[in-house]
Amino acid sequence: MLRVGITGGIGSGKSTVCRIFETLGVPVYYADEEAKKLISCDEAVKSQIIDLLGEDAYLNGQYNVPFVKKAVFQDASLLTALNGIVHPAVKKHVIMWMEGHRGRPYVLKEAAIMKKGADLDKIIYVSASEEVRLARTLERDTERTEEEIRAIMKNQFSSEYFKGISDFIIENENNLLIPQVLAVHQKLLTS
Ligand code: ATP
Repeated sequence: MLRVGITGGIGSGKSTVCRIFETLGVPVYYADEEAKKLISCDEAVKSQIIDLLGEDAYLNGQYNVPFVKKAVFQDASLLTALNGIVHPAVKKHVIMWMEGHRGRPYVLKEAAIMKKGADLDKIIYVSASEEVRLARTLERDTERTEEEIRAIMKNQFSSEYFKGISDFIIENENNLLIPQVLAVHQKLLTS
């Protein structure tokens, strides 16, 4: 079974492309959503976060996003430490999830943070220009401002980086997605 990463910047269309792969029966692991679930429900993760940030990190058992955002915004070392709790937990979880899909030709792990390494066999990059990504994200996330989205983009990997690590590129500017997904799917099935 091939372990395939699918990545790209905010608003590039990773989830949209993954939904097309899902219609082909390909299992998809959405790293962001799974991280949120682990933060909310995994007792080991929760207790490490409380050790790091204090009891206020959870309010009536719910992850206290405004509190955590403020804390890590004020102290970058806390953000590094928080990532040091969440990222390894997701890494462990995705390995277990992949184990559960043994026998499939391939599975996908969707994430904006991706490195070429031993845990993935192939990487797909979903590409779109910053302006298109900004417009689509503004339309999707009505609570976010242009400034906030541009700040997120600045913190993410560049298109050069993504191109450098990827084996396949899916262009999502004004291109048809389904034929591109089918072409990558065929290649993955025969590689
Ligand atoms: P994030 O990194 O924020 O999770 P993403 O890369 O998963 O974003 P999507 O959520 O798939 O991106 O797409 C961003 C928005 O753009 C969504 O509202 C989606 O419906 C829309 N979108 C994606 N691709 C296209 C397209 N080809 N044409 C029109 N709208 C699109």
